[in-house]
Amino acid sequence: MTAEARKPSAAATAWHALGAEAALQRLDSAPSGLTAGEAARRIAEHGPNRLPAAAPRSALRRFLGQFANLLIYVLLGAAAVTALLGHFTDAAVILGVVLVNAIVGFVQEGRAEQALDAIRDMLTPHASVLRDGRRQTVDAADLVPGDVVLLEAGDRVPADLRLLRARGLKVEEAALTGESVPVEKSPAAVAPGAPLGDRASLAFSGTLVAAGQGMGVVAATGAATELGRISGLIGEVQTLATPLLRQMDRFARRLTFVILGLSALVFAFAWVLRGYAAEDAFLAVVGIAVAAIPEGLPAVLTITLAIGVRRMAARNAIVRRLPAVETLGAVSVICSDKTGTLTRNEMTVAVAETALGRFEAAGEGYAPEGTVTHEGDPTEGAAAELLGTLARAAVLCNDAALREEPDAGWVVAGDPMEGALLAFAARAGAPPDALRLRFPRRDEIPFDSRHRYMATLHATHGHAFACVKGAPERLLDMCNRQAGPAGEASLDAASWHARAEALAAEGMRVIAVARRDLPQDAEALSAADVEHGLVLLGLLGLIDPPREEAVAAVAECQAAGIRVKMITGDHAATAGAIARQVGLRGAGSAVTGAELDRLDDAALRARAREADVFARTSPEHKLRLVEALQAEGAVVAMTGDGVNDAPALKRADVGVAMGRKGTEAAKEAAEMVLADDNFATIAAAAREGRVVYDNVQKVIAWTLPTNGGEALVVIAAILLGLTLPLTPVQILWVNMVTATTLGLVLAFEAAEGDIMRRPPRTPAEPLLSGFLVWRVALVSVLFCIGVFAIFAWSEWRGLSLEAARTAVVNAIVVMEIAYLFSVRFQRGTSLTWRGALGTPAVLIGVAAVVLLQLAFTYAPPLQALFATEPLDPVADGLPILAAGVALMLLLEVEKAVRRRLLRSDR
Ligand code: ADP
Ligand code: MG
Repeated sequence: MTAEARKPSAAATAWHALGAEAALQRLDSAPSGLTAGEAARRIAEHGPNRLPAAAPRSALRRFLGQFANLLIYVLLGAAAVTALLGHFTDAAVILGVVLVNAIVGFVQEGRAEQALDAIRDMLTPHASVLRDGRRQTVDAADLVPGDVVLLEAGDRVPADLRLLRARGLKVEEAALTGESVPVEKSPAAVAPGAPLGDRASLAFSGTLVAAGQGMGVVAATGAATELGRISGLIGEVQTLATPLLRQMDRFARRLTFVILGLSALVFAFAWVLRGYAAEDAFLAVVGIAVAAIPEGLPAVLTITLAIGVRRMAARNAIVRRLPAVETLGAVSVICSDKTGTLTRNEMTVAVAETALGRFEAAGEGYAPEGTVTHEGDPTEGAAAELLGTLARAAVLCNDAALREEPDAGWVVAGDPMEGALLAFAARAGAPPDALRLRFPRRDEIPFDSRHRYMATLHATHGHAFACVKGAPERLLDMCNRQAGPAGEASLDAASWHARAEALAAEGMRVIAVARRDLPQDAEALSAADVEHGLVLLGLLGLIDPPREEAVAAVAECQAAGIRVKMITGDHAATAGAIARQVGLRGAGSAVTGAELDRLDDAALRARAREADVFARTSPEHKLRLVEALQAEGAVVAMTGDGVNDAPALKRADVGVAMGRKGTEAAKEAAEMVLADDNFATIAAAAREGRVVYDNVQKVIAWTLPTNGGEALVVIAAILLGLTLPLTPVQILWVNMVTATTLGLVLAFEAAEGDIMRRPPRTPAEPLLSGFLVWRVALVSVLFCIGVFAIFAWSEWRGLSLEAARTAVVNAIVVMEIAYLFSVRFQRGTSLTWRGALGTPAVLIGVAAVVLLQLAFTYAPPLQALFATEPLDPVADGLPILAAGVALMLLLEVEKAVRRRLLRSDR
């Protein structure tokens, strides 16, 4: 039962026409929100704030879905005709192939879907609410009617809200109305009859906050929301189709037609020219077709991708769109944010510069304890007073809060940079909580990476003033005076620029702080109030050490031919210093956003290619840089967190959003989300992407020639008029046994040693590279030679035809195993311990095949079914093993020659 069904009256309320006060009253709530206890009671009544999920496909439908495939239809047709001809064993084995294949596909697809579901759960949306009078982050599913929710640019509105406050709030309601131009919102009641698009006093669940801030009380949740009414179900169902899989699907279909055509020709040849009975010719041809059709391939490729997704998730990289798994393997440029991605985002104020000299601050993390010392006379009254004013402004123009946690120590709720300012103020003797009580905030202009400052309006008895903090270049433009020894003096901009530059050159993030008196009755703050006439109080220099793992990851990427570029809103000197610390190649010269603006497209492309550090950029620059790099042929991964980053994330080949500090808007635009906001995670994902692509190639490189080899043996025998070295039903057996054991294991293969030491693959490179085609041909021919050699040898030794055929079947399987070990290392040698021991999956697969072959050779029922005879383990076994070893060694020679050729190419 839905919440709507239980509370029809609530659903019918015209919230938009009620005043904010009345709405709060009707919902039995207050501007300070609900208590935790009340919220818990209401969730029991209303249920979770979630749309009912679409019913998953039933197991039976999923199983039947496995048969909807051209390859399978062909096999089923062959089985039917074979059965009509009375060859029930053959028909049963073909059906066995189909069935086993379907079961494997069913199980693997289930696991793949599970992997995706698990990832979906890692990305549940959150909401900021007031509970017990405090701002908290909760799962959006836990919201109840009456909760007071805070909205910010980039948020997805978590429930239907009656707005209580809006500050430049614009909401994009395309999800609901299809209108993509953001609409302005305000808490004023509107006419009861207003259509959905005009209900400016409501923010609807599922719509996106494009700009501004707001606060609203939850009026409806879950299925009772407007979105719940129109959709009723969660739409997003991930499909397991990626370009690679589609490419393989097309290929497999084309291959099927080729095989069918070829089979028809062979049939005609055998029947007309070789004098086979039509029935025998047909059975042989069915064997060829079944052997050659790679019916297991789609399932194996799907599981290869799913394993990649799972491995990435285990390393904190959450793939939102499957194709990214493939694209990641081809990434040639990673554009990364600085703060929090390459650095730890654990900020500490180290220095305060004022007109009365420099202060040095010391303290642990975000703890309020610590010291702030003046370089001059520590007891100097004027300096202490100026420090106090600076610290006060830094506290007031600030949205963060510090909290002591039992095991984590002091932690920040909000922006770590602002948290650091609070800790600094406490160390400087300006206790944040007391100041905030004394100077309540009347209004604010939130920080935006486009205007690079934040401002707040405060008032106490008879006195109103604004506090502003932001990037120094920006703030110095807005100031005309500075606070100094004798009150206010005119601004010495040049000296401040030099000091800011000096702090930045040490790798510090620099924040300028200013204030301004305003008319006592000022109620609201506008850009015009703060963009001129400010009094500069000083500069704060914050250190944010680089992440150690980022240093290693940058080196790994650069060794792998992946360029790492830093794109930051921070100062050029800060960016350059951090770039040097993490080891970026082009750390020497940073390009600023202003410089980029002056370049035309061609010059921009050249700059984008050559430079590695971009400073004082805005989100628009990110988009231009992605486009420029792509025009240069790069495959670009780009990080982002803000709502304005969404276009660049969408445009990038792999958009990467921050899981922690990222907005919903950025996450939804991204292909991948970093659960830990860490650059090293991108590098790990790129590595896994390469592994996936390698494994896909290995699966194909193994499947095609083994299938081809089996088919070629029969074709050759018919064309040359030789005795068939194995019967059609034996071919079917080999195919069934190996495709479902050996064919699967390569999906689990781990990375080859050189995976991050070779350049990225060119995206245009076809999956079936020239090399792969050559391999398929070579191995097919070698298989053929091996088979006829064993057959001839066995006949020469005087074995019966049945025993010789048994030997041939075993030889094929042994060669397939040998080739499996060979293909696991495409470039390097397989003759190593690691190569011999293999991954666990390989060993399990091989053990299973060996057992099945022993049964095939020695178990009486199977002997009867497949017309086999027992072999001598030594006299017959050794030559069979020798065939496998010979194949392996020949391929090692081929690999060595290829390595030599590649090296001389460079
Ligand atoms: P990034 O995250 O790439 O380092 P941002 O765009 O977040 O860059 O910030 C750019 C600049 O804006 C910073 O260098 C800083 O000077 C200033 N800034 C950042 N956050 C705030 C804030 N909350 N309030 C005021 N100024 C800020
Ligand atoms: Mg930032």
